[in-house]
Amino acid sequence: MSETGSYAEVIVDIPVREMDHVFHYAVPAGMREDICFGCYVLVPLGARQVNGYVVGFSEPAPDVRIKEIVAIKDKEPVFSPDLLELARWLAEYYLSTTARALQWIIAPRLRIRNGKKKAGTMSLWPGITAEEAAVFLSKRKRAHRQAAVMRLALACPGLSRRELAAAADVSCSTVDALVARGWLKNVENHAHKRHFAGLPQTFQLNDEQAAALQEIEAALSGNRPETFLLHGITGSGKTSVYLEAIARAMELGRQAMALVPEIALTPQMVRLFQERFGERVALLHSKLTDRERYDEWRRIERGEAPVVLGTRSAVFAPLADLGLIVIDEEHETSYKQEDHLRYHARDVAEKRAKLSGAVLVLGSATPSLESYHKALAGDYRLLKLGGRVDGRKLPGVRVVDLRQELQEGNRGIFSRALKTAIEERLGKGEQAILFLNRRGFATFVVCRECGLVLKCPRCDISLTYHISGHLRCHYCNYVETLPDFCPKCKSRYIRHFGVGTQKVEEEVRLLFPRARLLRMDSDTTAYKNAHRDILARFCSGEADILIGTQMIAKGLDIHRVTLVGVINADATLHMPEFRAGERTFQLLTQVAGRAGRGEWPGEVVVQTYCPEHYCIIAASSHDYEQFYESEIKIRRSMNYPPFTRLARVLLAHERQDLVKQWAAILAERLQQAAGERQESVDVLGPAPAPLSRLKEKYRWQLILRGTFADSLRAVIKTGLDGFEKVVKSRDLLVHVDIDPLGMS
Ligand code: ADP
Ligand code: ZN
Ligand code: ZN
Repeated sequence: MSETGSYAEVIVDIPVREMDHVFHYAVPAGMREDICFGCYVLVPLGARQVNGYVVGFSEPAPDVRIKEIVAIKDKEPVFSPDLLELARWLAEYYLSTTARALQWIIAPRLRIRNGKKKAGTMSLWPGITAEEAAVFLSKRKRAHRQAAVMRLALACPGLSRRELAAAADVSCSTVDALVARGWLKNVENHAHKRHFAGLPQTFQLNDEQAAALQEIEAALSGNRPETFLLHGITGSGKTSVYLEAIARAMELGRQAMALVPEIALTPQMVRLFQERFGERVALLHSKLTDRERYDEWRRIERGEAPVVLGTRSAVFAPLADLGLIVIDEEHETSYKQEDHLRYHARDVAEKRAKLSGAVLVLGSATPSLESYHKALAGDYRLLKLGGRVDGRKLPGVRVVDLRQELQEGNRGIFSRALKTAIEERLGKGEQAILFLNRRGFATFVVCRECGLVLKCPRCDISLTYHISGHLRCHYCNYVETLPDFCPKCKSRYIRHFGVGTQKVEEEVRLLFPRARLLRMDSDTTAYKNAHRDILARFCSGEADILIGTQMIAKGLDIHRVTLVGVINADATLHMPEFRAGERTFQLLTQVAGRAGRGEWPGEVVVQTYCPEHYCIIAASSHDYEQFYESEIKIRRSMNYPPFTRLARVLLAHERQDLVKQWAAILAERLQQAAGERQESVDVLGPAPAPLSRLKEKYRWQLILRGTFADSLRAVIKTGLDGFEKVVKSRDLLVHVDIDPLGMS
């Protein structure tokens, strides 16, 4: 920490580019004792007073007029020099500002300053053991409703009174009655106090796990801050490797962080960590109240919680001596923040690991193309877990050709094979999951006879259908009209399509009137914890069939599920983006990983109009390498990442004509800036974004592609410099996204 002095360097908390530099302020004599690096201050700026952060102490240039700091708002540093460096890197990398980046890094700390002190919320836990409950449940046949509540509370402890009542479909008074009798108990929610009884699992790591762990350990103890890619199939026991590696880091006196996608932060995951590390685990995720998050953050800062388990933003946790970072399911898109500061937690983690000399472990059954490419190139060290821990087989995947079904007169949602498979499960009292990939915002066109999908000849992504009858490419704006006949087979069955979960539910009710159904999609999961409740109900055997979107693909570990049906794999396969194939492979692999976790073997039925697609073939044989080989060739030939880098500039405004016009102007400016550079930078578009209107605003986009991210950044900076003056509108939103993922 630098010596304090009479002049402080301050970053003002105004996240606009023009303000993104260090200002000098005089430190009044009375404040010199208290002021320190990283403290939060109030300073005059023009006619206003604004918040700022002290980032150093130095003499200003002699000719500048210096104002005085008004007040110190927080004497304790709100960030460390390491985190300031991380903020500066974030600002540079994502074309943002240091103030914005700092806002994200210290959000848990600052938000609580303004927030009121919320008392911890209450949640309900079983007050009896599972054995006692079994007696209870069998004896009280008449008290249906109470039994339903108890079963839920056991399957899914920690729900609030209202959540529990809603999930069991009873009134709150039923829940209260159980509390009064002591069958349920009220526990105050403090994130870190949710302790689970029980001992850590004690099994021997198998040979593959042990070998992987040994490599990570060697890097840890040898102080070699390497990056590992742990490629392990679903059920291969990656989590146990993480836990052991974290334990080693702690034995070496260092700290560790494990990031999981939001949806993976299930009670099971939390339990594993808490059983292993007890009070030393801090939890950071979006479901915490500001107060809970603040408390966890402070525990981390004070060194009381050397293990952090959290989602995306936990990557900023104030660990002082980080020795290990684990990112589970590293390919997940939820690691990318899609607004404000558009960071990817994996990239931030890589930078943080560098700054603190930490080992980074990326784990996945289906690594992102970027990561696997780096691993093969030797930038990351590849570790493999090729078998399931219990020696169980991956489920068999049956691909059903929907073209054939049509030819043979079946126009329904369900193929005969899937219908039969469901019937069998119902007959045996086993459970089935029917999975419907979300259609996304765009509709593609497919020939139902030959499976042809219309694509952009320039960008190789699916064209999107518009009601006006034309087809458009959302990267380069190529347009053509919808043909009456399939250009390949001349069939008239060429049309846009998509089915929703409701439609599937209706059809299931018609076909299997006796089956008990649960549906999980954005409609049924509007209330807090709905997702968890529905899963708990399904787990406890309340339904035979669960119908849902992506939401159900992950983390589910239900032993009685022996069938997973993918209603239509094509919905993901033909999303209008170059990662559509990768997403499909990941989804199918994940979905297939859901079946056959118990003692019965599982089966997966995948319905598609494109059974010969390499992604479908590779997914059906659980062959990541095969998928990678095919996909990487396409990326290379079409010049997409990992061979190039992309950036997206999105413009949004209420008036379509204006935003279109401005997008064209910006395109020209970007083209010009690109032309002045030696290495080539392509500017694609402008084109309407797939989600062409959102919150009353029309959205147009430009996509930049080049070999180096630095040149993309330089071109965008030059293009945007002075653009506001051309536009003269305060209402135009301009968003820059480096390494965009979703591009909706
Ligand atoms: P992954 O994350 O790779 O899909 P998990 O880490 O969830 O797999 O492990 C799957 C299951 O196997 C878990 O229930 C875990 O407790 C168990 N498990 C992990 N390693 C072993 C082992 N060496 N022996 C026995 N069971 C194991
Ligand atoms: Zn056709
Ligand atoms: Zn195109």
